Amino acid sequence: MKKTAAFFFCIPFMVLMGMLLSTSLFGQSKLPPEATEVWEPEPRVVTPGTTPSDAPSDAIVLFDGSDLSAWESVNGGEAKWALSDGAMTVVKGTGAIQTRQGFGDCQLHIEWRTPAEVVGEGQGRGNSGIFLQSNYEVQVLDSYNNRTYSNGQAASIYKQHIPLVNACRPPGTWQTYDIIYSAPRFNKDGMVVRPAYVTVIHNGVLVQNHVELRGPTVYIGLPSYKAHADKLPLMLQDHGNPVSYRNIWIREL
Ligand code: MG
Repeated sequence: MKKTAAFFFCIPFMVLMGMLLSTSLFGQSKLPPEATEVWEPEPRVVTPGTTPSDAPSDAIVLFDGSDLSAWESVNGGEAKWALSDGAMTVVKGTGAIQTRQGFGDCQLHIEWRTPAEVVGEGQGRGNSGIFLQSNYEVQVLDSYNNRTYSNGQAASIYKQHIPLVNACRPPGTWQTYDIIYSAPRFNKDGMVVRPAYVTVIHNGVLVQNHVELRGPTVYIGLPSYKAHADKLPLMLQDHGNPVSYRNIWIREL
């Protein structure tokens, strides 16, 4: 009688040991599929555009070709670039323009066109630039059969990162950048605790793959971080060449 009671008492223990043994022997095969399903949070719904160039439903449209109301001159006052045929074009000497709104982490779509009439060479041909947070330049340049230093050609992170390939279209042709930007993080003492990162897709081609920025873009010398606000304007450069932009939208991340 005692033996039988002990035997029955041991059954749950043996079953448990068997389960543990089979789990360890056969990996996680005994887990139900539901054990690895995560239901929260549920991603909110975003309606994409008809084409990847169209603004999705949650984008902030910075320029749709109709007006420059989202922009101002970095010198103060209205943006003085030319507006025609759904595009805005650098007017030499009027200065850079910047968004009235500041941004941090973002996804940016922007289209640009260097002049059809080729003038100048190297850095002097179709030069402009997209400055993320007013500080970090993704170069805009006519780099179609126009050699310059590699870390200064189109789609370079100016003087920091050479693009993986040259995906430029000919001058006078619209081109796209799709940029994913992660802003730098600073602690309360102004020290950088996480650098900025950027990914750039040029005309559908990956050209910068999550590269680390070493600091703000500088023309001379080496970059180094200086603490700045979490959100800063997007800036477009007046480098003296009549480069055009259109269809600019941004998603805050
Ligand atoms: Mg530039």
